[in-house]
Amino acid sequence: MKVIIYWAKNIVETLLRLLPFPVRTGLIRVGNPGKNSPVIVTGNFDLTVERVKKSLKGLNVYLLIANSRGINVWCASAGGLFTEHDIISIVKTSGIEDLVDHRRLILPQLSATGISREIVKEKTGWSPLFGPVYAEDLKEYIENNFHKSEEMRTVRFDLLERFEMAAAWAFPVSLIPALPIFIFWRELLIPFCLLIWGFSLAIFLSFPLYSRFIDPVRERKGFILFDFGRGGYRLLFWALALLALSIYGIYAGTFSWGFLLKWGLICLFVVLILSLDLTGSTPVFKSGLHPDRLLKVVLAEDLCKGISLCREVCPRNCYEIDKEKHKARMPRIDLCVQCGACIVQCPRDALCFAAPDGSTIPPETIRKYKLNLLGTRKLPAGDKK
Ligand code: SF4
Ligand code: SF4
Repeated sequence: MKVIIYWAKNIVETLLRLLPFPVRTGLIRVGNPGKNSPVIVTGNFDLTVERVKKSLKGLNVYLLIANSRGINVWCASAGGLFTEHDIISIVKTSGIEDLVDHRRLILPQLSATGISREIVKEKTGWSPLFGPVYAEDLKEYIENNFHKSEEMRTVRFDLLERFEMAAAWAFPVSLIPALPIFIFWRELLIPFCLLIWGFSLAIFLSFPLYSRFIDPVRERKGFILFDFGRGGYRLLFWALALLALSIYGIYAGTFSWGFLLKWGLICLFVVLILSLDLTGSTPVFKSGLHPDRLLKVVLAEDLCKGISLCREVCPRNCYEIDKEKHKARMPRIDLCVQCGACIVQCPRDALCFAAPDGSTIPPETIRKYKLNLLGTRKLPAGDKK
């Protein structure tokens, strides 16, 4: 019974993963942890907590569930909903300080965009490390003495992730109109759902085939391919669909306003699926709706001391460190998703964002002002200027 409930909960939360699913914050003992056991932190999004717990099976560790407002770690950190204050709070209130002899805290790598390591260290006396991107790599990371391989630092968008994202889009888009369709055009319900799920699965599962055409560098010059997220395109797609329907209806002799309304509504939902924020739904591109996608990370070489934190937290593996010169290099900067993690973490303030107009966004702004869903930089609630 427990297994059935676990899987049912997992499926529902995957289908509705665009919504928050908070669990209680606090301390969880995994196995039989002792005074030297690792202390891992994660956000309180139920799916994440379950995955982290599963990946830690067989180890003896303390797991701290901090308040990410029930949202996944990356989105919460980027949006200012998971900050150093939440880490400080869970360290101070969980009782962990009395349970271990060391002061090493393993944070999720994707929280690096919203959490200041320095402030956590200063306020708690604990030294935060950024662990791997994926929960499934935690065990190997701990067993490797907290060493992260390149693969552990880098986001993927593998088949399972693409499948989950397709389901997370198709489910609400097919669910919302299902009731009116069921009432008025019952015979269309199944074909309609199949159409929406088919489109969504086709878009995400075939992503590797066309992703090379989504070129952020060319996009900066205004060349946009496969970027379905732009508002204007939605109306254009729909207008074209209505036109095609009208022509077909007149040609086949079936045209009526009822015919146009029925098929026009169905086309509207197909267009909604086609016009989803595709790039923003992947971990390998910035949202096509965010103005930040046009920013470029710039390195002030003279300030850089090769401390390598940028490399540790970059989810796209953009950095390399020249060990002789003690300087960072950015050989893969065209892969950048403008998450800002490297800028937030650089202890020398050697990195910043540069806009196409030549202006720059300094590290203190990136640290303090977080992006909301519309891509606007705002101060997180409770933070003072
Ligand atoms: S850019 Fe900053 S974090 Fe990266 S190596 Fe240089 S000093 Fe270190
Ligand atoms: S280089 Fe780009 S992707 Fe990498 S951490 Fe910096 S902003 Fe994020």
